[in-house]
Amino acid sequence: MAAALRSPGARFRWRARALWGGARGAAAGQQDYDLLVIGGGSGGLACAKEAAQLGKKVAIVDYVEPSPQGTRWGLGGTCVNVGCIPKKLMHQAALLGAMIRDAPHYGWELAQQTPHNWRKMAEAVQNHVKSLNWGHRVQLQDRKVKYFNIKASFVNKHTVRGVTKDGKETLLSAEHIVIATGGRPRYPMHVEGALEYGITSDDIFWLKESPGKTLVVGASYVALECAGFLTGLGLDTTVMMRSIPLRGFDQQMSSLVTEHMAAHGTRFLRGCTPLRVGRLPDGQLQVTWEDLTAGKENTGTFDTVLWAVGRAPETGSLALDKAGVSTDPHSQKVLVNAQEATSIPHIFAIGDVAEGRPELTPTAVMAGKLLAQRLCRQSSDLMDYDNVPTTVFTPLEYGCVGLSEEAAVARHGQEHVEVYHAYYKPLEFTVAERDASQCYIKMVCLREPPQLVLGLHFLGPNAGEVTQGFALGIKCGASYQQVMRTVGIHPTCAEEVAKLRISKRSGLDPTVTGC
Ligand code: FAD
Ligand code: NDP
Repeated sequence: MAAALRSPGARFRWRARALWGGARGAAAGQQDYDLLVIGGGSGGLACAKEAAQLGKKVAIVDYVEPSPQGTRWGLGGTCVNVGCIPKKLMHQAALLGAMIRDAPHYGWELAQQTPHNWRKMAEAVQNHVKSLNWGHRVQLQDRKVKYFNIKASFVNKHTVRGVTKDGKETLLSAEHIVIATGGRPRYPMHVEGALEYGITSDDIFWLKESPGKTLVVGASYVALECAGFLTGLGLDTTVMMRSIPLRGFDQQMSSLVTEHMAAHGTRFLRGCTPLRVGRLPDGQLQVTWEDLTAGKENTGTFDTVLWAVGRAPETGSLALDKAGVSTDPHSQKVLVNAQEATSIPHIFAIGDVAEGRPELTPTAVMAGKLLAQRLCRQSSDLMDYDNVPTTVFTPLEYGCVGLSEEAAVARHGQEHVEVYHAYYKPLEFTVAERDASQCYIKMVCLREPPQLVLGLHFLGPNAGEVTQGFALGIKCGASYQQVMRTVGIHPTCAEEVAKLRISKRSGLDPTVTGC
């Protein structure tokens, strides 16, 4: 059990000395916190605000190291500044482009040309992000959470040193410390010119001008989402994929995701890996890559190279050894137990920086809130990381919750798994004459009645909205029979889930016909 804040055994108080102007400068004041949170992103903010609401004295420190390309941003962490929020808004911008193409079918008489203006979109998105930065600062102030814009590292088990942009130092001590420092994009450092000429998701949303013809390297969430909206905005976009798309996801669904993208203009270089990037005299970037199947080198020119090859946890500069906090030697993430406690019982880690946790905002937020409630003795509830729903915001969105078909078969055996599936046509695609070849749903169930639902996979418009609702049912242990007894809402795409009658095993055509 995690020790509670101000537990009866903890009679002593942890004092903090603020030493402005260097560690040896005169003490300018004293702080004394029940809880110190390192990292003002999704998890850290949620934890700090909850603990303060429950009456604790809380401080939060946040500091953004500019990207190698010099991009910087404000309070709120990855999701707000360089993740979910700007990504979803740019995805929306791309979806609007598709709707503009639908519009004439519905009688809208549009001007011939509808060019997209990156600068305008980026400015609007960035202004929204800045408003969120401000909102977070106001919320911290309202809840009396003390905010420090300093880069933190451990001095010992209860003390953290923070350094401002100008090099001023502060020492902060607290009874409990939460590490919520998230992660940053990796660069493929073995690729010559990677750092010099490439950008990452830390930069793409803050570009003032269009990235132009773009090479996206990687094939997971970040790569496919970015390639999807860039293509949707009319940019010549290529994805370089060394192995499979969306590793860890249901592979039938993942193939449909990339098939849809390819059908809508994204180029794919499959089985290829980058070797070097250089700048040509005309300013373009020349990329050389290896085609692993053909065993030969190829080159191409691009305006922008976007590395989306995964993320590294922000643990390197925390001096965790000074506090005795253990990390996983391979991932460098902080090792945690079910209480989110590290190897040091009063130090915790949540969100992307913690080993084995999904790298998603809602899990970081919920873990942070529950941790605060446990520390404040309001609850003993632990974060449940099972059946976490998620959506990949590619042009055709892919939402899922629970097990993939492969994982279900691996866990329960082929003979114990029943998969119900359907190819369907969203009503809104009909008049617009959109191709619906990849609009597909599958529900993975146990075969034995009442056929517990193990996983749901939905590929189609608004997949996030659809999946969120069904996630509740699956979390509550819904069976296939119960889903079939759920009355649909007509006419929607979500109702197709409640109409999944065809099993894969039957071999019958899963194409939905009629209404
Ligand atoms: P973060 O939000 O990364 O916050 C950590 C904070 O700590 C940062 O502000 C960092 O600068 C600061 N920090 C680091 N080191 C120090 C230090 N030493 N001292 C002080 N401060 C420090 N998730 C979703 O659920 N849905 C999505 O649609 C989605 N889209 C994404 C799109 C992209 C492009 C990316 C990259 C991620 C996306 N994610 C999405 C993932 C989501 O953004 C993260 O899982 C989430 O932000 C993690 O929160 P966190 O609190 O762990 O860390
Ligand atoms: P991932 O670690 O999920 O994927 C990395 C990708 O890069 C893989 O396709 C990998 O290929 C490829 N790769 C790795 N190294 C190289 C290399 N040297 N050369 C070429 N390709 C390489 O990282 P992401 O950054 O996409 O996502 C990180 C996390 O952020 C996700 O797990 C997710 O939790 C979160 N996120 C969530 C989103 C959402 O909720 N919608 C959106 C975006 C991110 P291979 O498979 O061959 O290893």
